[in-house]
Amino acid sequence: MVIDVHTHINNYHEDRVVSLEDCLNQLTDSMGESNIDYALVLTSYKVNEHRPGIKKVVEATRDRKNLGVVAGISYLNYKQSDLRELSDYLEDGLIKGLKLYPGYEPFYPYDNRLKVIYDLAVEYDVPMMFHSGDTFTSSGRVRFSQPIHIDDVAVDNPDMKIVICHVGNPWIKDCMEVVYKNKNVYTDFSGLVLGDFTEKFEKYMKNELEEMILYAGEPKYLLFGTDWPISSMKSYLNFMKQLDLPDEKKELILWKNAAELFKIDVSQL
Ligand SMILES: [Zn+2]
Repeated sequence: MVIDVHTHINNYHEDRVVSLEDCLNQLTDSMGESNIDYALVLTSYKVNEHRPGIKKVVEATRDRKNLGVVAGISYLNYKQSDLRELSDYLEDGLIKGLKLYPGYEPFYPYDNRLKVIYDLAVEYDVPMMFHSGDTFTSSGRVRFSQPIHIDDVAVDNPDMKIVICHVGNPWIKDCMEVVYKNKNVYTDFSGLVLGDFTEKFEKYMKNELEEMILYAGEPKYLLFGTDWPISSMKSYLNFMKQLDLPDEKKELILWKNAAELFKIDVSQL
């Protein structure tokens, strides 16, 4: 069993618009080729013709039982009506988590303005995901996306489950400390490469993740995610095989932690 907690259906090659259905088909084809059983689709903080909003994605994935939706929220542009829509979807169990994009938008995760969103995550007991670390575009501002800022959020919201995306790369040591210190914080290691891992980078990342597990202990906090279509699913699964860990720990990372955290009923897959 494999659960990918981090995929996108944004159209990154903005010269050609691919329909949402086509994007979802490409996603499930890629999952099929790599034997990935379930994937979470993370919507963007931006909505435009290349980046479908939450409503469209919820509707398009409703009958696809191997896909779940995590709702991206814009710090700069969210409206009361967006929050009402989110609560309705949460109430109906149609979204599995929420996501904010510090770095892509200029705000710190401990900003008071976000309290209303964190309260929603706690009320419906869904994880709050944060973009963390490097940004895909040079217009991002990485002082906002350093994983160390998540510590304040974790301390102030002890009942909220938090996911630091991309292990805060390249600030992996900071991420390591935040997950070690706060039992409500998890991390995914998606999006570490564009396309495939090179042998050199694979070796480097293998050491980084093994160091994290050595420091922070039993990997109950570590989640398998790819950031597809930015990173290749096949290359990611190959990377997993290189990790020097017993099979039962790999199982935690590949699906067990995610199934518990996002309440994914794997018996239905
Ligand atoms: Zn991503």
